[in-house]
Amino acid sequence: MFEKRVVYAIVLAAGAGSRMKMAERKQFIEILGKPMYRYSLEAFQGAPEVDHIILVTDGEDLEALKALRLEEAFPKLFAIREGGVERYHSVYAGLHAIEEELVHQSFLGNGKENPIVLIHDCARPGLTSDVIHRSIEAADQYEAVVVGVPAKDTIKILDDENFVESTPDRAHCWLMQTPQSFSYDLIWKAYAKLMAKDRSGTLAVKVTDDAMVVETFMKKKVRIIEGDERNIKVTTKGDLRLAELYLNEKK
Ligand code: C5P
Repeated sequence: MFEKRVVYAIVLAAGAGSRMKMAERKQFIEILGKPMYRYSLEAFQGAPEVDHIILVTDGEDLEALKALRLEEAFPKLFAIREGGVERYHSVYAGLHAIEEELVHQSFLGNGKENPIVLIHDCARPGLTSDVIHRSIEAADQYEAVVVGVPAKDTIKILDDENFVESTPDRAHCWLMQTPQSFSYDLIWKAYAKLMAKDRSGTLAVKVTDDAMVVETFMKKKVRIIEGDERNIKVTTKGDLRLAELYLNEKK
């Protein structure tokens, strides 16, 4: 429990993970004998500030994963929802579970709450309690916060023909990770606007993270804080080996 506000964590595990080129879907690939999605669940379960966890999964896995709610290991697991085609559909499914709970609470006369929501890709099994803690503190202060690490390489912006268009100052280039953390009211309104555009077929931007939903639809500045070098996103087999190395060190 965070003394100031209720904290929800959404764990996204509904992608196809096709870039891994493995028969098994990425979230179920085992690292040190454990399916990848469990690392994120365990990190949030073990973080004292987090109250409720929502797992978003593929329709095919929904029934099997519902068994997790019976496990003693995850008493904070509050809902398991089916995700969608794009990552942002899956995020919306997770946010919807929170919305339903808040409507239910206000019906019970429990007053209006504005919780903090952390949105995390289970493809990052290296999430630490320290990153969770700092994300929550910063989200309470700034309303929209993303963890990241400074770019070590020079970043180039390319045109459609792979020629360099511009070279941003490296000091201002950071690589974004998750969790991306928000005040619930802000992220819910941002996603409601995004989904209205999506439904009407007028969505003009490619949505690749949650911060850009807030930037685009709420014109709200997002604060970046230091993440962790070991909080890598597992996308290739090489990443998998690196994640294994980091998680082994942690053990
Ligand atoms: O595919 P990628 O690695 O970019 O996905 C990032 C995260 O979003 C993963 O944890 C994946 O499980 C999740 N995702 C999702 N629903 C989708 C696509 C991705 O929950 N439709």
